Amino acid sequence: MSDDRTLEEASADRPKNFIRQIIEADLAAGHKNGKVATRFPPEPNGYLHIGHAKSICLNFGVARDYHGTCNLRFDDTNPSKEDQEFVDAIRRDVRWIGFDWSALHFASDYFEKLYDYAVELIRGGKAFVCDLSADEVREYRGTLTEPGRNSPWRERSVEENLDLFARMRAGEFIDGACTLRAKIDMASPNINLRDPALYRIRHGVHHHRTGTAWVIYPTYDYTHPISDALEGITHSLCTLEFEAHRPLYDWVLDNITIACHPQQIEFSRLNLQYTVMSKRRLTRLVDEGLVEGWDDPRMPTIAGLRRRGYTPASIREFCARIGVTKAENLVEMELLESCIREELNASAPRRMAVLHPLRVVIENYPQEQVEMLEAANHPQDLAQGTRQLPFAREIYIEAGDFMEQPPKGFKRLVPGGEVRLRYGYVIRCDEVIKEHGEVIELRCSYDPATLGADPLGRKVKGVIHWVSARHGVAAEVRLYDRLFTHPLPDTAGRDEGKDFTDFINPDSLRTLTRSIIEPALAQAGAGESFQFEREGYFVRDETLLALPRPIFNRVVTLRDTWAKVAGRRE
Ligand code: ATP
Ligand code: MG
Repeated sequence: MSDDRTLEEASADRPKNFIRQIIEADLAAGHKNGKVATRFPPEPNGYLHIGHAKSICLNFGVARDYHGTCNLRFDDTNPSKEDQEFVDAIRRDVRWIGFDWSALHFASDYFEKLYDYAVELIRGGKAFVCDLSADEVREYRGTLTEPGRNSPWRERSVEENLDLFARMRAGEFIDGACTLRAKIDMASPNINLRDPALYRIRHGVHHHRTGTAWVIYPTYDYTHPISDALEGITHSLCTLEFEAHRPLYDWVLDNITIACHPQQIEFSRLNLQYTVMSKRRLTRLVDEGLVEGWDDPRMPTIAGLRRRGYTPASIREFCARIGVTKAENLVEMELLESCIREELNASAPRRMAVLHPLRVVIENYPQEQVEMLEAANHPQDLAQGTRQLPFAREIYIEAGDFMEQPPKGFKRLVPGGEVRLRYGYVIRCDEVIKEHGEVIELRCSYDPATLGADPLGRKVKGVIHWVSARHGVAAEVRLYDRLFTHPLPDTAGRDEGKDFTDFINPDSLRTLTRSIIEPALAQAGAGESFQFEREGYFVRDETLLALPRPIFNRVVTLRDTWAKVAGRRE
């Protein structure tokens, strides 16, 4: 991994985020045996998204840089929404981002131990079986300004609690009949400490690993600290919404016999403009058919970004640039886009593709002649070598590069005007052929003396791209834009009763089915990216490789054009 780090990650003098500062101080003080152990704990109820990448880069990055360990742990205590498909996708995506885990764990592997610890809590008078219904529990809980009231079942004897808890496990009670609750403090200003639930009854669900072996399931707040401690985690890094849960995290570990007590440290979530990030919302986009699937190139999922043409390095670079703090933030989409644009600008081979083709016949060019013109793969990186571009009498140019009645300053092709073909000759438009008022073909002539040379006595400013009609290959090109029209789809319109799906951008995908690409592009492998000259960066779709016609996804435009919507060409 270390050879593969982005510049930003590898830079020794980059500012260290507050979590790294804490860890360095702990290591220097010899705390935790001078070792750092972290974990990344996703719930397998959806695909990973770019927000998870922030947590992945933090947890795995810390382990890498301080010679520690980082586990991948599936937090699979909520069987109704979890699935093996998600487990597989998460493993793939973590590896793809560029990390490997020291150990792989499932919280469900700890079910038996978690049960034993619950028995220990009951024995110590720290937990009780409560028969209040969910509604009653809510009623007893109190509010932010009023203390709660003790459950009438709170003073059950240890023996009775042990018996009832064993019978909960044995399946004697129906769902909701009772819960196991911690006995902490119903008057605590922190509502999480008002006798929170530790176990709930769930009959008839199938857990993706334990099947139907269990009918009681531990809560997240109970499972998480114990899982961390069992794995010897030193620093349990999580997002800010768990700050108010930290006293409960500590309470659980303080009241059972367990050697390790990890330190929970919270940081702010990544929020990104023009998208939604919670798995609940992403699941709705998939389930309601608003996108093609979890790996739709418009999704903020890792699988979607990969198909869109993002690279692991560009995602790590993005995470390095956003940093880690406690401040709530909303990151601009441009920041993510600039990470992949900068990378592809430096690395992607240049190619020519005509997205909206217009036929051009060069009438003074010999009928059967074909010339191979040499073109640099990357004019700023000559080490990338050259390729041969076939040139013949009939070519395609971009429809937008010709205008019959051009506005002032238009430098491309006009009736009677000249333009240079990239890597080729200067041509002149002699005749415009129309059908039903629409331009369907241009009759042109070329100047044989202009290959790599200026025409005598004339100035030709415009340079356009082109593809030989006979040699070009038909392709489908998909132009993606933001999935939402509002920077905050999640909260926009909440007052008017609108939902985030009301802000879906109807133009987030435009499919061009008549595009023509230069022959070298037809051989592109899955996930290979190119700059289509003057158009943007495009990647060969990784999932639709078997189709006879190649499909390319636009990764990102050449420049950040989104702010200037009016100036956009397509
Ligand atoms: P979601 O609401 O998207 O389901 P989650 O927090 O429930 O998010 P988990 O699978 O439980 O998802 O998350 C695994 C880890 O990733 C957690 O430590 C969580 O804090 C972190 N994480 C999730 N979303 C973000 C985000 N937007 N920014 C940073 N870290 C995140
Ligand atoms: Mg979750």
